[in-house]
Amino acid sequence: MIEFRGVNKWFGPLHVLREVTLDVQPKEVVVVCGPSGSGKSTLIRCVNGLETIKSGDLVVDGQRLGDPATDMPRLRTEIGFVFQQFNLYPHKTALQNVTLAPIHVRRTPRAEAEQAGRELLAKVGLADKVDAYPSQLSGGQQQRVAIARSLCMRPKIMLFDEPTSALDPEMISEVLDVMVAVAEEGMTMMVVTHEMGFARKVAQRVVFMDQGSIVEIGPPEEFFSDPKTDRSRAFLSKIL
Ligand code: ADP
Ligand code: MG
Repeated sequence: MIEFRGVNKWFGPLHVLREVTLDVQPKEVVVVCGPSGSGKSTLIRCVNGLETIKSGDLVVDGQRLGDPATDMPRLRTEIGFVFQQFNLYPHKTALQNVTLAPIHVRRTPRAEAEQAGRELLAKVGLADKVDAYPSQLSGGQQQRVAIARSLCMRPKIMLFDEPTSALDPEMISEVLDVMVAVAEEGMTMMVVTHEMGFARKVAQRVVFMDQGSIVEIGPPEEFFSDPKTDRSRAFLSKIL
């Protein structure tokens, strides 16, 4: 579903992705971890074209990014992205946030989009908040609206960039529970997170990045109990 082949990216003189090669299979959940500045956000931002690559190949759902034949706006509608900051529209209700893209981008009839939106908000535990504005919601609730908003576009891939890092500790699990449910329904996911409980529960593989390179990659039980490199051991000793 997502294929990185020898991908390189620079920001000016800074080599932020170094020869990254990684396949994400359909329905696979890959957790990406590593120190701050190691290139995790850049890696997943490349997948939906928020960043462009300098060399190598990146193929998403069979379409090569950077290829003139690839319809990027269309491909983007198939990829949900959930950020650390929830990025909801402040002057729109939860339901309006969730239905905006289906109505205006997918041209879904409003009644149909609203029904789907209500169902998704119910699914993330917010049936009673459909008419609430973001300022009336907790951080955990806002992030669940953001997830529902992405799901409402019926994406094939969901990308998460540290979705619980901005949350108060007591709200982390309500968001992780929703992400686990999405994973268990068979979504293809790349998740930048240091929530190792989440990784153990649903990830098929954990990718450890450092200084723009994938240093280690393996099943969570292996990566956490028997990290293979000094760098991954040092990293794990800090977060576990
Ligand atoms: P991570 O998500 O692992 O913390 P990032 O992918 O955000 O790392 O950043 C990787 C490196 O690229 C860092 O050194 C960061 O400072 C740099 N960087 C990220 N975005 C930009 C940008 N738009 N312009 C210049 N440098 C950037
Ligand atoms: Mg980041």
